[in-house]
Amino acid sequence: MGHPPIRCDGLSKFYGEIGALRNVTLTLEEGEVLALVGPSGSGKSTLLRLVAGFESPDAGTVALRGRVISGAGQWAPPEERRLGMVFQDYALFPHMTVLQNVAFGLKDHPKRDRADRATAMLSLVRLSQMGARYPDQLSGGEQQRVALARSLAAEPRALLLDEPFSNLDPHLRAGLRVEVRRILRTSGVSAIYVTHDQEEALFMGDRVAVLNSGALEQVGSPEEMFHRPRSRFVARFLGTADFLRARMVGGCLETEIGRLEGPGSLDGGAVVDVGVRPDDVAMGRDANGVGVVVGRVFRGTHYLYTVALPSGAQVRSLQHHTAHYDDGEVVDVRLEPDQSLMCFLDDEAGETGLTARTLPAS
Ligand code: ADP
Ligand code: MG
Repeated sequence: MGHPPIRCDGLSKFYGEIGALRNVTLTLEEGEVLALVGPSGSGKSTLLRLVAGFESPDAGTVALRGRVISGAGQWAPPEERRLGMVFQDYALFPHMTVLQNVAFGLKDHPKRDRADRATAMLSLVRLSQMGARYPDQLSGGEQQRVALARSLAAEPRALLLDEPFSNLDPHLRAGLRVEVRRILRTSGVSAIYVTHDQEEALFMGDRVAVLNSGALEQVGSPEEMFHRPRSRFVARFLGTADFLRARMVGGCLETEIGRLEGPGSLDGGAVVDVGVRPDDVAMGRDANGVGVVVGRVFRGTHYLYTVALPSGAQVRSLQHHTAHYDDGEVVDVRLEPDQSLMCFLDDEAGETGLTARTLPAS
């Protein structure tokens, strides 16, 4: 096995008092798209700037294919790193045609190859017909595809994309996401894809890395991150999650809306928070139920209900659009059977998620 395209080791960056990046260790593997996601200000762009060489770290190193190029007394300027970049507002040259824009950066190639390669890249992003146009004759989405083609043309060792679609309207973004995913997979390039949008991260990434206030919370496959979050932060950030107090009694975790088996590692009397997603919570009309409907959001095919429980906690439940409940209506609420749920110990600091299973359907 060769060295990975990019490896960050114990990377830290401070702006005055602000720890924009704190001790981040992260590897981009060969051929993968790593989605880097976190709220605004969590350090995503800082990490990309450190990798690209626009900033130098206060601690830690960046290595490209095993060679340290930032930190530990080493430094390679951006142009020597041969990384491709696509930013939100990484403008094309307005006075050059689309094809000339793509060919830019292929100066080392023989002239003939340059045109061939630029043409091939335009075809990859499905803009072959647009080569003679100027950037201002293209839509925003098309411009970003040209920027992508231009970056890929130079055969970068890896591609860094920083919220490339955040200036585009949401409707366009959905389509472009699919297209860019296809382009990245087809070209086989290794890429770090930065976004603040959890849905986009789960869709784009072979793996997803979550940043929280400059620190890396968790890295894993999209499914693992969604279903096995190791912290409440990740659970909340990558989807809707509510937390229910639970106590270990006789080998079971008891919540106010149902019991779970295990986890075996917990002692009797232990108290944890169980994370539940809206599809883990069943509800039904029942005048003797323990829940009261306090909110409803229409989502087209579904309603998302918020239900208040006797303890004062609230849970959300996803219901088909044919299931109507009124505010103030008393309902029965239960954990869906046979679900694997995450449990979090009360100590947020060194939080590690445990799993427990709701009881089977009887
Ligand atoms: P993100 O891309 O996740 O939105 P950034 O990496 O841009 O976050 O910023 C992380 C933190 O570092 C923020 O608190 C931001 O205000 C701060 N920061 C970023 N760049 C600078 C800078 N050049 N000077 C001072 N503070 C900065
Ligand atoms: Mg940013």
